[in-house]
Amino acid sequence: MKTVDIAPAQNYIGGLYESNEARSMDVVSPLDGSVISQVPLSGPGTVDKAVQAAKQALPAWVNLTIKERVQVLYKFRTLMEDNMHELTNLVHQENGKTYGEAKAEVLKGIELTEFACSLPQLLNDEILEVSKGVECRTTHVPVGIVASITPFNFPFMVPLWTIPNAIALGNCMIVKPSELVPLSTIRIAELLKEAGLPDGVVNIVHGDKEVVEAICDHPEIEAVSFVGSTRVAKIVYKRATSNLKRCVSLGGAKNHLIVLSDAHEEMAATNIAASMSGCAGQRCMAASAMVAVGQVDHIINRLCEVSRSIIPGENLGSVISKAAKERIEKYISEAEAAGAKVLVDGRNATVEGKEGGFYVGPTVIDYVTPDMAIAKEEVFGPVLAIMRTNDLDEAIRIENSSNYGNASSVFTQNGGLAKYVMERVSAGMVGVNIGVPVPREPFSFGGWNESRFGAHDITGKSSIHFWTKLKKTTTKWNPEAFTNWMS
Ligand code: NAD
Repeated sequence: MKTVDIAPAQNYIGGLYESNEARSMDVVSPLDGSVISQVPLSGPGTVDKAVQAAKQALPAWVNLTIKERVQVLYKFRTLMEDNMHELTNLVHQENGKTYGEAKAEVLKGIELTEFACSLPQLLNDEILEVSKGVECRTTHVPVGIVASITPFNFPFMVPLWTIPNAIALGNCMIVKPSELVPLSTIRIAELLKEAGLPDGVVNIVHGDKEVVEAICDHPEIEAVSFVGSTRVAKIVYKRATSNLKRCVSLGGAKNHLIVLSDAHEEMAATNIAASMSGCAGQRCMAASAMVAVGQVDHIINRLCEVSRSIIPGENLGSVISKAAKERIEKYISEAEAAGAKVLVDGRNATVEGKEGGFYVGPTVIDYVTPDMAIAKEEVFGPVLAIMRTNDLDEAIRIENSSNYGNASSVFTQNGGLAKYVMERVSAGMVGVNIGVPVPREPFSFGGWNESRFGAHDITGKSSIHFWTKLKKTTTKWNPEAFTNWMS
């Protein structure tokens, strides 16, 4: 069954659509397994073509003031609102998340664009008379031609983590969306063009590993941002920086929620269930491991009740592929075989009328031990592994032992204990009584440890440093009468 009729995806270079690639693949809707489009798998020649288009667009784009550049983004924001239903449906179809989750993703894209519109207000460069008659001034200058490589799980939001800020700050871009979900990025480019973005400022090159490698190797690309799994984040970071580019590379996650016995039962249960199952657990901020400290059976019981009310195909979307479903179910079965207790079992889920779709129901597994794969590795599905301890410091040690460091939350009504945990967990984004502690604009997004490589966060004010280079200008006017040691 065909879900929607969408034209084959094409590369978008210098304002023109083209696809003359030898390789291509089907775009499959995970909602029902139907083929909804095709995507070209490009090579290094196409990356170079896109770089030349960006190079041609760059001088005129840099020459505009930032206030002029963001005018396009104001219009783009309105166009996203005008096309809300269509954009939401596209995200829903190509990614498989629920319509409501897809709408939240589009709204988040709007918020990210609003932040970029505010950059002229934030970018007040510094100036100081450092010695009599001598002034120093800093200016944020665009880096030049930059690239953004994105994952499958947020086809609309993650491209908008980078595109609005990078172009507002004067760069021209090559965007490489996940080949699994190429369609939302194309709509972003179409709406940007409708909003008045000059051709060549944003270019899209579809593909897989080959495109990513060509981006990392291209001598005229100055900066590379990457979001995806830790395995690939490491490859990209090493390859881009060994070619002397700046790089911020965000990887995977294993987020721990530490639940104390005094936690508010309903708040903890509903927040944890939503964090574990939202977007079918395919969020880098999803709750994946819960460390129960002391007597929290009442919270676990309620968490299981809430989880049972989350139904695939109704208020739970699909996972991205058959392979993802199989991987997730294997983690559950292996944990069970190793002695963990499956309290809520999401294996073998199907949705009537969508038998070709890839569904895993919410899964809660108790008595997981820290040495099990499900406790250590990123499962990326609607699965919560519960570990138990009677010792808060042991709970913190379990969290600290993770290679990742994206998010961590504590659930308690004791402010002192919450502070104790927040100061000791090893994660870039931490929360108290919140399942998904995403810092919203203007705060920046980025984890620690193997969840992020590179010096800067990818959004918010921190991203200004990534997308610009500082020029320091020293000016001397009429200083002769005031000569001192630094004149
Ligand atoms: P992925 O690493 O498989 O793919 C990401 C991008 O890398 C895609 O564009 C893909 O085409 C490309 N790619 C894949 N294999 C490659 C290779 N061998 N060499 C070069 N490029 C390659 O990630 P995914 O499955 O699309 O996304 C899910 C992952 O992304 C999860 O691990 C999730 O935690 C992570 N993620 C992290 C964040 C964060 O902020 N830290 C945000 C969203 C997603």
